[in-house]
Amino acid sequence: MPLTAAGTSAAGAAAAATSGEDQLRIEMLGAGNEVGRSCCVLTFKGKTVVCDAGVHPAYTGIAALPFIDELDWSTVDALLITHFHLDHAAALTYIMEKTNFKDGKGKVYMTHPTKAVYRFLMSDFVRISNAGSGDRLFDETEMLASWRQIEAVDFHQDVSVGGGLRFTPYHAGHVLGACMFLIEIAGLRILYTGDFSREEDRHLVQAEIPPVRPDVLICESTYGVQSLEPRLEKEQRFTTMIHNVVSRGGRVLLPVFVLGRAQELLLLLDEYWSAHPELQRIPIYYASSLARKCIGIYQTYIHTMNEHIRSRFNRRDNPFVFKHVSNLKSLDKFEDKGPCVMMASPGFMQSGVSRELLEKWAPDRRNGLIVTGYSVEGTMARSIINEPDEIIGLNGQKIPRRMTVDYISFSAHVDGTQNHKFIDEIKAQHIVLVHGEATNMARLRGSLQGKYSDKSEVKIHTPRNCEPLMLKFRAERLAKAIGSIADNPPKPGSTLSGLLVSKDFAYTILDPKDLAEFTGLSTSTIIQRQRVALNVSWEMTRWHLEGMYGSVQEGVDVEGRRTMRIMGSIDIKQSAPHELLLEWVSSINNDMVADSALALLLGVDSSPASVKMTTRPHKHDHGSEEADEEADDRHPFADPKAKSAEDYIAMKRIARAAQIATFLEAYYGNVEQITIGKAPEEQPESGEAQGETEDAEEAANAKQEDGPLIKEEPTDGGLPEEAQAKQDGDTNGDVAMTNGHGGAGDTPSKQTPPSLEELIGGPPRQALRVYLDDKVAILDLDELAVYSRSDALRKRVLHLVALADRTATSTSDAFRDEMEGADGAVEELFLGAHSIPVEPGEAASGEGVEDRGSKKPKLEA
Ligand SMILES: [Zn+2]
Ligand SMILES: [Zn+2]
Repeated sequence: MPLTAAGTSAAGAAAAATSGEDQLRIEMLGAGNEVGRSCCVLTFKGKTVVCDAGVHPAYTGIAALPFIDELDWSTVDALLITHFHLDHAAALTYIMEKTNFKDGKGKVYMTHPTKAVYRFLMSDFVRISNAGSGDRLFDETEMLASWRQIEAVDFHQDVSVGGGLRFTPYHAGHVLGACMFLIEIAGLRILYTGDFSREEDRHLVQAEIPPVRPDVLICESTYGVQSLEPRLEKEQRFTTMIHNVVSRGGRVLLPVFVLGRAQELLLLLDEYWSAHPELQRIPIYYASSLARKCIGIYQTYIHTMNEHIRSRFNRRDNPFVFKHVSNLKSLDKFEDKGPCVMMASPGFMQSGVSRELLEKWAPDRRNGLIVTGYSVEGTMARSIINEPDEIIGLNGQKIPRRMTVDYISFSAHVDGTQNHKFIDEIKAQHIVLVHGEATNMARLRGSLQGKYSDKSEVKIHTPRNCEPLMLKFRAERLAKAIGSIADNPPKPGSTLSGLLVSKDFAYTILDPKDLAEFTGLSTSTIIQRQRVALNVSWEMTRWHLEGMYGSVQEGVDVEGRRTMRIMGSIDIKQSAPHELLLEWVSSINNDMVADSALALLLGVDSSPASVKMTTRPHKHDHGSEEADEEADDRHPFADPKAKSAEDYIAMKRIARAAQIATFLEAYYGNVEQITIGKAPEEQPESGEAQGETEDAEEAANAKQEDGPLIKEEPTDGGLPEEAQAKQDGDTNGDVAMTNGHGGAGDTPSKQTPPSLEELIGGPPRQALRVYLDDKVAILDLDELAVYSRSDALRKRVLHLVALADRTATSTSDAFRDEMEGADGAVEELFLGAHSIPVEPGEAASGEGVEDRGSKKPKLEA
């Protein structure tokens, strides 16, 4: 049952409804109302695919080719060869070497066994056609040159040619390596069968029914409505007939193609001879040196054959080592005395060994001819079936025909009954019959039309050569809304969300919840997991995530791991000390959020804000990178354990400070992290600290005229009591400080004015130093207080600090609004964890976070 689901919204389908009709063009350059020179050109949405390139067995030279002038071969994107038979493959070299095919980008594809056999068969073809007449199509060198460029593919391989064109070969039975091609061009599916058989024989599997339903079926119709006799009856009739001929002292001539049915008949004869010891003195000959070479190929590809042959091979009973068959390299070595069975090529007896023997043996009434395959009109094999009294020899002489002539079709083509059944199972909207003579084809068409008369959407076509068939496909698609989604009928312009289900050219949109009820399909949820090695703390991770996604829900999952959930859909878990695990229900939206979270987390290690905030307070980060690395190559906050509430609050403060640092950096570019205040016993000692002091001193010197040192704190920030008291005494809230509070006693008795940070007292704490041109400001990160000699700079910094704080808050608020009610559900939410698949939308009560897409089922039945 071919079912496809597309997207979660009907908007796409509605948008596509404006583009009218798409046309598929099918043109037969051969095998249209005939058997032979198969060549079918498919054109759709600017892509061109050619299926098969054969010659007509009844003609020679250029006349045998398909109508290749009808096509600009440089436009071909792919040339697919179904099997090695000459009527499907022998024109390939000519097309590849003597047309403008090589000017284009098109490639030639065939299965591995076909490519292997094709080479030997074509060498033979070149040899025979060179011997025959002057109008040869190509030589061996050209054949080999083009053969090397053929791309060999596997059965069931999904081959993407590009630009919306892809194909897959399926088993076709028929001969070794034969396949059908399921071709997909921009979503339109065409099944081109080539020659196929639905009967499992001694060595081949039967043709498969591809798992997806094609829109168009291009099907062989060799036997029309004719029914072939069942295999066992046929085999019995065949062996009996041979037994009779040799018993009466006659010779049996079996004209066959070198490869294909010949192998099946050899397997059959070898078996029969083994079972009849009285026959074993009568030789079976196979007059083909080519066949001997190709048996190697057959043995190579035993894995593509059926169970019967593989099990024999596994028992070390190589089925292709015949016990009663002798190979005959040429007729010169053949001693024609007494009864024998002779298999000889070619099958149509137009020339070659089979023709030579026919002319020789025809006058003797003891001899017998058995035609075992389909014989093409205009060939000797076809005309002799009518048992004429005389035949015309290759030299024009009349030869009496007295030998018996029988016809048993072993050709591995579907018969009428099998084809009917196959066509039924494929269920294509358009059936294009090819590879059949006009009368056979017309009969099959008639019987199919009778059958599908009640189904007006099924069309049967029998295009003639060079008369293109245009098939229209509605690009406009109508989708019916069913189930709960139809409770509120959609209005024009509104967006409908649901699953789009395609079945039998009809589309329905339904709620994923209704899927089982209306289609019998089940849904599945895909949980994605991604582990990230990360060397920063949980707090730092959260800080970064909050910066990006606003509020982050926190809790533990079922396994007790710390978990943060962002955007209501992606869980980030502490899975190991230095490892985070991202977990989410796969959907288009969630995958996107997860991608962004992943990108963010991967950048955390190298983020300037992280570096700033994780530098130890007593160290300066400039000029000491090497020392830092040597001292400790781990982040000081790596693997933290927020053991207490105090730790947690401290970390939270750090995260806020980092946010402000990033903000200031964005505005001023030059922001340094410093330590201000002094421990009572601590004196600046290190060279670094000294340098720092000197820098500040210089800055302070230069800024003397800027005015008094002023400290200001953000109006909405928590003011320290001390500062509050000072502020209260002031009219406008600005506190002018001519001396660092609590630091007066520490100020060294230097002649130069004290540096800015020297004036700031209190315990050692983190601060940021901001430069604007030649002015300096210091932000006390603990108290969010700003110190500067420049009133203007101080105010600007203060403003930015307030802004930084507010921005972070309002972003989280915005998200919090969306996730209304989610806060209370946090614990419960994580206990539901993704280990037990839940839809995030079900846990959170808010509409805003509900994501229907997260339950998107994969429907490729
Ligand atoms: Zn064939
Ligand atoms: Zn064929």
